[in-house]
Amino acid sequence: MLTVEEALTAILSRVRPLGTERVELLAALGRVLAEPIVSRRVIPPWPNSSMDGYALRAEDTRADGAGLRVVGRVTAGSLPPRALGAGEAMRIFTGAPLPDGADAVVPQEDVTLEGECVRIPGRVARGACVRPIGEDVRAGDLVLEPGHGLGAAEIGLLGTLGYARVAVGRRPRVAILSTGDELAELGTEPGPGQIPNTNSYALMAQVLEAGGEPVNLGVAPDRLEAIEARVRAAGAADVLVSSAGVSVGELDLVREALTRAGATLHLWQVSMRPGKPVTFGSLGGRLVFGLPGNPVSAMVTFELFVRPAIMRLAGARSFERPRVRAHALAPIANPGTRRGYLRVTLHPDAGGWGARLTGGQGSAILRSMVAADGLAVVPGDTRVPAGGELEVILLRPLPPGAR
Ligand code: AMP
Ligand code: MG
Repeated sequence: MLTVEEALTAILSRVRPLGTERVELLAALGRVLAEPIVSRRVIPPWPNSSMDGYALRAEDTRADGAGLRVVGRVTAGSLPPRALGAGEAMRIFTGAPLPDGADAVVPQEDVTLEGECVRIPGRVARGACVRPIGEDVRAGDLVLEPGHGLGAAEIGLLGTLGYARVAVGRRPRVAILSTGDELAELGTEPGPGQIPNTNSYALMAQVLEAGGEPVNLGVAPDRLEAIEARVRAAGAADVLVSSAGVSVGELDLVREALTRAGATLHLWQVSMRPGKPVTFGSLGGRLVFGLPGNPVSAMVTFELFVRPAIMRLAGARSFERPRVRAHALAPIANPGTRRGYLRVTLHPDAGGWGARLTGGQGSAILRSMVAADGLAVVPGDTRVPAGGELEVILLRPLPPGAR
């Protein structure tokens, strides 16, 4: 059986980024940048005021106060009517360009007006309340590199730099297929012996979270020809992800159906719990994953294997989730030889992060995922005592109360 690392390496060795496309700026949110962004602009383009107040020359101010003659006014969106000379000040507003000769701004709440003069009560340091030219971006700066994931801040910065459209990696289309005679579709009441189809929805949601575009192939019954037909129907998808039917039972037909549809299977069975029977192969230019059927197993194997593949297809250079060291708040046992990916909640305490199992760790207990802050990675045949160290893969932002 392969280790998780061996399996991931084998998978990623077969993943090449898809092409790129240019999209409107807002549509680039959550996508991966596919071009270097070298600024042709200087931001800010001129020194400007960070306060409403008076622009002045710092050398004209004195510890025991000074009166300066107000010689004009400059608002955001206008230009200073003239330069400042010795003993002069100019009314200025936040974001307005500093007049030539000025090198500081004093906020309006710190001064008093006396006729045509403004009284500055003490010394003002050079540069006070001034945003220098280029403090954010200088011309020629490499601002963002290809492979960078685009969030709201990046979208704002690209707007600042004048990008109405931007090149991003193509979004992988990921076809999701559930298999099993017992599955009732959403909107139908499960009949006798049936259960609701969970995996299609959890997996499509994971596809979205990873930056892919899910395509719902629905449910195939446990019949070879039926599964094979659905696999062939995946059509234009870049990735096919099935769940269930990949174990060793006589109704576990997915691997054979994949092969019949023309797939080459590269690996099967990884030493992990949950999720051992995971399968990976290629079909035409497509990647195919056969994930196990239990909802937690499907989600955890997606997280460890499919998510990185989708992100690399989309052009991401890195896709590692953050990990934290934590200590067990109660003993955690992982019997059996396979490495455990146990669902834990995290709790800040004097020693850093305490980790506690979310409750029952059965691979059909989906609420163990709902509650989880992360997956504790526990070697096989291990009993971590209370206080023992754990490595935790973070699945969501850390809970509040951090150090
Ligand atoms: P299998 O690998 O087909 O033996 O499935 C393992 C377990 O996962 C069984 O209990 C199935 O009923 C369950 N299962 C399979 N597919 C789904 C699904 N799409 N939604 C919820 N449970 C599933
Ligand atoms: Mg089944």
